Amino acid sequence: MNETNDVSGRAVPETENGGESSDFISEFIKEDLAAGRFNYVHTRFPPEPNGWLHIGHCKAMMVDFSMAEKFGGKCNLRFDDTNPEKEDISYVEAIKRDVKWLGFDWEDREYYASDYYEYLYDLAVKIIKKGKAYVDDLSEDKISEYRGTAVPDKNNITQTPPGRDSPWRDRGVEENLDLFARMRAGEFADGEKTLRAKINMADPNLLMRDPVMYRIRRDIHYRTGNAWCIYPMYDFQHPLSDAKEGITHSLCSLEYEIHRPLYDWFIREAEVFPSRQIEFSRLNLTHTVLSKRYLLRLVQEKYVAGWDDPRMPTLAGLRRRGYTPLALRNFISQIGIAKTDSTVDIAFLEYCLREDLNKTSPRVMAVLKPLKLIIENWDGGSDEELEAVNNPEDENAGTRKIRFTKELWIEKDDFEETPPPKYFRLFPGNSVRLRYGYIVTCTGCDKDASGNVTAVRCTYDPATRGGNAPDNRKVKGTIHWLSVLDAVPIEVRIYDYLFNVEKPMAPKPDGTPGNFLDNLNPASLETITDARGEPCLASTRGGDRFQFERLGYFVRDPDSVNGKPVFNKTVGLRDTWAKIVKKG
Ligand code: ATP
Ligand code: MG
Repeated sequence: MNETNDVSGRAVPETENGGESSDFISEFIKEDLAAGRFNYVHTRFPPEPNGWLHIGHCKAMMVDFSMAEKFGGKCNLRFDDTNPEKEDISYVEAIKRDVKWLGFDWEDREYYASDYYEYLYDLAVKIIKKGKAYVDDLSEDKISEYRGTAVPDKNNITQTPPGRDSPWRDRGVEENLDLFARMRAGEFADGEKTLRAKINMADPNLLMRDPVMYRIRRDIHYRTGNAWCIYPMYDFQHPLSDAKEGITHSLCSLEYEIHRPLYDWFIREAEVFPSRQIEFSRLNLTHTVLSKRYLLRLVQEKYVAGWDDPRMPTLAGLRRRGYTPLALRNFISQIGIAKTDSTVDIAFLEYCLREDLNKTSPRVMAVLKPLKLIIENWDGGSDEELEAVNNPEDENAGTRKIRFTKELWIEKDDFEETPPPKYFRLFPGNSVRLRYGYIVTCTGCDKDASGNVTAVRCTYDPATRGGNAPDNRKVKGTIHWLSVLDAVPIEVRIYDYLFNVEKPMAPKPDGTPGNFLDNLNPASLETITDARGEPCLASTRGGDRFQFERLGYFVRDPDSVNGKPVFNKTVGLRDTWAKIVKKG
């Protein structure tokens, strides 16, 4: 991704394709309005309720809702639910929750393509009457065989030799009307007949070779039950649903580009409102997969705990991980909307998240792997209180008192008996500052029979309280700590990427298709059950976010139980994006 500077001089990535106007959709819309093709703007966000929304859908929503807003128009929420096999009401509910969470508002415009079955049926009849659709007896397999496939010629240029007409292609209108009515009435078995558009079996675009409009399926639909045994196909249904709602601009991801001639064909032949399809690039992210089909497998085959597992790129997973709607929206705005597909570095998403959390998260101290620190010369009892800043980025966040005692918890990693080079934390003879407190000097450690360190010993200098350094003394390390007397037990879950390669679907070295399941990261979750935190963490609520000083950003998970809050690590403090930018 290329870099430019925004108004504040900060480096931001250019649009995904490196410079193309991110606002080409606005340009199209403006042209349409100027040409009088439409006199208002109305878009829709059309999820299929066959899985939970992911971050790619966040991009789609940003495009759909913000284009409407920009032109003073409206955006509908339409469930694109015409495939009874995979759809479910639980998905509808999850989708609505996530759209709302991101802050998009469809007001009272909640629609279902399944409410349009009767309307769609009538339009199919209309197209049959025009001699532009026919009932076919070929099986679905035969239909694809007759349609043909794209093949490379001797110069490796893709060719699509003409397909073959079905023997039923020239059935008369009356016969087609009769057969179609009988398909609906349930007179034929599943797959026995289809309704096909009569377009062109030699079209270079295979999708135009008499696509199927209706198929027979005796599945129970989650909304219409068994009222129908024929179901409309996407390419027929989607443009006509758009038209029914008076959608002016049907914005969708790039893979629908080759469907556009078909979109226009159905609009034209059905003689309905002339909705216009415009495509934009799909969001892809490194170290993840963004397709409901794959995400469903991760859930069903239990590679993750559910759709909202904090490692999932679903909106519910990201929310549980600690992502904020603002961070996601900023991310999408900054990558821009391009016309060519690309893959965005997940480090940039994390950068956008940190930008937001840094401003809004209160700081507290927590110790993931506690080790006791004993201050040998402490005689201050257990009432000593130090003042800690709640958020240096927010003047109004104030300060709090933290208790300092003879015995503290420090991070196991912050002590080494024999320090490696450049180790500035505790080791015998070395001094560090305890955050908000005193400078301490390590005097040694206690060990158990097998030689494990059980406690670290030190002395403190009373003159160095709360950041004071009377003799101008400098120490190289500052470490976080908790009082043993009031630290509370917490569970901490640390996450890594779900996939240990950037492109989990990339082909294998031998050229065979990649399988994302081969690239799962076996160490994507580490659970620490005996961590400790400041007492205030005991009275937090699900979704509360903090920066644990020196460790990263954390959010309270709904799995928390009374007396044992669970915190998910949202993201670390280190900015890997800045490094990538620096390296160019
Ligand atoms: P998936 O491949 O994940 O199943 P889909 O396109 O089948 O995605 P839908 O529920 O049909 O999922 O998508 C709703 C809308 O979101 C569509 O307009 C689609 O173009 C858009 N969309 C889906 N995935 C992405 C993505 N990764 N980036 C941008 N837009 C997307
Ligand atoms: Mg889809």
